[in-house]
Amino acid sequence: MPYCPRCRCEYNVGVVECIDCHVPLVAFRPWRRGLFDIDFDELLVPAGALFTLISAAGLYGISTLAQQGQIAEPLGPLIASQPPCLTGFYVVSAILSALILVIALLRWLVFRR
Ligand SMILES: [Zn+2]
Repeated sequence: MPYCPRCRCEYNVGVVECIDCHVPLVAFRPWRRGLFDIDFDELLVPAGALFTLISAAGLYGISTLAQQGQIAEPLGPLIASQPPCLTGFYVVSAILSALILVIALLRWLVFRR
């Protein structure tokens, strides 16, 4: 039986290319991938989630400091007067980004093929 060298899926005899990965199949099932054998495209979603988490936490921190009056004149009152829904948006963004990071970490550690 042919196997995909990338996702390790088994195919029927006669199939020559993995339908998901679009790579030529090999005769034997390859070994499980190493812990740090990561494709660049697999890092895009966790990197984006990490960037969003850091940005949302930073914006939440800045708006909290502005509401406490700890940011000086022209910017502080301007930031403090922003609608409360933006603060909610920062919190929701941070929570969802953290959730995506946890899922990506679990996929990397547990469901790696
Ligand atoms: Zn595949």
